[in-house]
Amino acid sequence: MSDTHPVIIIGAGPVGLAAAAHLLERGQEVRVLEAGAGVGAAVQSWGHIKLFSTWQYNIDAAARRLLETQVPGYSAQWQAPRATRLPTGAELVSEYLAPLAAHPALSTHISYGHRVTGISRVQPDGSGVDKTRSVGRDESLFLVRTETESGVTDLVARAVIDASGTWGQPNPVGRSGLPALGEATARELGRITSPLPDPLGSDTVAFAGKTVLVLGAGHSAANTLISLGRLRQRDPDTTVLWGLRAKANPVRLYGGGNADELPARGQLGISLRRFVENGDITIVEDASVVSLTAGEQVTVSLADGRHLAVDLVVPATGFRPDLSLLSELRLDIDEIVEAPRELGPLIDPQFHSCGTVTAHGERVLSHPEPNFYIVGMKSYGRAPTFLMATGYEQVRSIAAFLAGDRAAADQVELELPETGVCSTDLGGSCDLPVVTEAAESCCAAPPAPITIGFATGTLHGHAELVAEEQQN
Ligand SMILES: Cc1cc2nc3c(=O)[nH]c(=O)nc-3n(C[C@H](O)[C@H](O)[C@H](O)COP(=O)(O)OP(=O)(O)OC[C@H]3O[C@@H](n4cnc5c(N)ncnc54)[C@H](O)[C@@H]3O)c2cc1C
Repeated sequence: MSDTHPVIIIGAGPVGLAAAAHLLERGQEVRVLEAGAGVGAAVQSWGHIKLFSTWQYNIDAAARRLLETQVPGYSAQWQAPRATRLPTGAELVSEYLAPLAAHPALSTHISYGHRVTGISRVQPDGSGVDKTRSVGRDESLFLVRTETESGVTDLVARAVIDASGTWGQPNPVGRSGLPALGEATARELGRITSPLPDPLGSDTVAFAGKTVLVLGAGHSAANTLISLGRLRQRDPDTTVLWGLRAKANPVRLYGGGNADELPARGQLGISLRRFVENGDITIVEDASVVSLTAGEQVTVSLADGRHLAVDLVVPATGFRPDLSLLSELRLDIDEIVEAPRELGPLIDPQFHSCGTVTAHGERVLSHPEPNFYIVGMKSYGRAPTFLMATGYEQVRSIAAFLAGDRAAADQVELELPETGVCSTDLGGSCDLPVVTEAAESCCAAPPAPITIGFATGTLHGHAELVAEEQQN
């Protein structure tokens, strides 16, 4: 393995930057390739949404050490945000990711506007090694193809960490995981919005007075529905439909309300229930979408023969990883959740809807292709319960391994906030559109405190969480 070539990290989100901080701390050469124009591009897209986890769990340890390091000639002094506060996505970027990316020790290692489109292997002399070539494969380097405004470039790396998230690949709104007939056209014509629009902010004009169908039953759907409910109170011509693929189940839909051990989730559920009971939001049960016919409006045809005429469809149906750029690599992927093989069963939302995960690192995340890793949000594949704190431990372990410290790589520890349980959902399995029995039974009862790795999660900032959510 050549130490003269960098470790390439794909994505300058929270986990990609944490990977860079850990590797730099261990004296490794690093290059971060980010498709967006700035740091945390995916998080910025949902900047108006408040996180579930407090700052205490959102800052990586190596990143914090870097931010607190004084550099001669660099005057910016980072102020750590209050540990018990819940930031919005925009604050996560402005108060943490942006200062981190601007730090002189890191800034020169990040290239923006670089979209990685393919990864393969190459011999040190430059000759190619495709997926079928086994001889000398372990000693070969990685060939990383990126697209920029000025063209296509091939870079060489000694290891690759894919921290590119899943934001760029929302699940389709059609039934059975396939796009509905006509979905691509409806998207092109602007009838399908982004997964988390901002109806009370930058998207008010697009939504006011319109008939909107929100599809999905998780945290994202709840946030959008509550915003639309408020918009309707300002502009009563706005009609809000909430499409569910199953029968409406109050526990599933609204969580535990005031009795919920997760105060932020409880408040979200209470607000949502109020809007439904007031008639501001109308539930459409069994909304299994077969086709979309876009014109002046879009006609949404359901499997049972009903048709809904709406102006906009909000696809709050979750995300899936884009594995296409990895097709020349030898991967071992769980066939159900599309996570690394060993991680998959630990997070499968059919059985682990409450999101507890054992501490894991380099070994669990490794593939038959040595020195290649999928980390962060993308490592969870289609499972929606990922938390940054989990990703920070993943990359700490991988950085230790890549720096030759096997013992530190194997010493995995994880402390998650109790809000990590069912973190991105209300009453069950997050943004998954399908309700499973396991998800319902899990969240019908308050989750028990979680013990993970060597640490125990505790409830943090309970009163504050409620207060901040109520301001929303
Ligand atoms: C509404 C919402 C609320 C959430 N709340 C919480 C919370 O409270 N707590 C929590 O821990 N987590 C929360 N999450 C999960 C959260 O998204 C992740 O924890 C975090 O953003 C994951 O970081 P990441 O670095 O893995 O991926 P991302 O933040 O998605 O970053 C990936 C980066 O890779 C870039 N990229 C993508 N493709 C390419 C490519 N081909 N080439 C180069 N760059 C590329 C993207 O532009 C992006 O900047 C929430 C998610 C959502 C959607």
